[in-house]
Amino acid sequence: MSLTKKIIIALILGVIVGVGLSFSSPELFAPIDTYILNPIGQLFLNLIMMIVVPIVFVSIVLGTAGLGEPAKLGKIGLQTISFYIVTTAVALIIGLGVGYILEPGKEGVFDVSSAEYEAASAPPIMETLINIIPTNPIEAMTTGNMLQIIAFAIFIGIALAVLGEKTSGISRLFEQFNEILIFLVNLIMKTAPYGAFALIASAIGDAGLDALGSMAMYMVAVIIALIIHGAFTYSLAIWGLGKASPLKFYKGFFPAMSVAFSTSSSSATLPISMRVAQENLGVRKSISSFVQPLGATINMDGTAIMQAVATIFIAQVYAISLGFTDIVMIILTATLASIGTAGVPGVGLIMLAMVLNQIGLPVEGIALIIGVDRLLDMLRTSLNITGDATCAYIISENEKRNDSKKAQPTI
Ligand code: ASP
Repeated sequence: MSLTKKIIIALILGVIVGVGLSFSSPELFAPIDTYILNPIGQLFLNLIMMIVVPIVFVSIVLGTAGLGEPAKLGKIGLQTISFYIVTTAVALIIGLGVGYILEPGKEGVFDVSSAEYEAASAPPIMETLINIIPTNPIEAMTTGNMLQIIAFAIFIGIALAVLGEKTSGISRLFEQFNEILIFLVNLIMKTAPYGAFALIASAIGDAGLDALGSMAMYMVAVIIALIIHGAFTYSLAIWGLGKASPLKFYKGFFPAMSVAFSTSSSSATLPISMRVAQENLGVRKSISSFVQPLGATINMDGTAIMQAVATIFIAQVYAISLGFTDIVMIILTATLASIGTAGVPGVGLIMLAMVLNQIGLPVEGIALIIGVDRLLDMLRTSLNITGDATCAYIISENEKRNDSKKAQPTI
């Protein structure tokens, strides 16, 4: 049986077992979760987390060196960042539109008086941008600071490209280390169905579907907006900008989406999403290894959608009307917030506090959505990494087309 089929079965079984457990008694759920589901899920998470930092570092070094001239890196960098910003803005507009049409905060009973939320301070965006250049690259690696690791790797990659023959020994070393990492990813991917099953069953069982109540409409709104963005924005981009088939893209990329669904972490899924994009979609290694790690760190369309719907929801619950300037502010701050959101579970909510603060909405409103956020995090993380792979796929398809045009003899 193919890995994709196994993962689909694991996904379905995970949801069924999770829903079953969410309706069972806590006495039954607790031991099953503590001794079976949680350890299996954590083992799988640790396995993939173990290779995230080395894979990001080594593949960006090789990817940058493989691009040859720094000018090409600049061109791809510009295309990537433009794609990320535009798609995030579109995601926000879709989220806001769905929020206004479905009005999830208008009907239902929301206990506003006891809502309390201690907003953790969001990292200041300017500081994050300045700190992209690490003063201590080793510390960046030990703390897993992705943007800093990416920056350091790009510098090393440029140096290898410029120095050429002089550093061929080190280039070879990086290539061989990369072989080892690819071997490990393939090995770890074999365990994905079991890990995904355990993580999904545990998350759904823990979240408890009976607690949805009046939050169901909010969840439906977020899910609809996620589906619209995935089905239309990305498909149109793949078809229009990449001249490729969206169907082929989704079929090939599905295993990575399901791992993101089970882990709720773009960063943790990175080794698998890069592998799947390169193997199943034929995305060039030099492009995948630059575009996807950057995306897993700064491009979060699913998170932006949740923030847009949540902002409208909270405004409706507290009966605060938003003007045109507020809407523009939401788009601006949520785009910045999605750049600053780390690709780990639940961080989207922390950044939501920043958006709410910016337009003067009560941050305590987050307390209302926190209970259902774990489930939505699974879905939005799948969309987050799909956006990154869409960009890599489009750029790679265009590069291939350009190269084959150049290779054709001119008469
Ligand atoms: N869990 C998301 C991710 O890793 C971030 C978030 O929205 O909380 O992509």
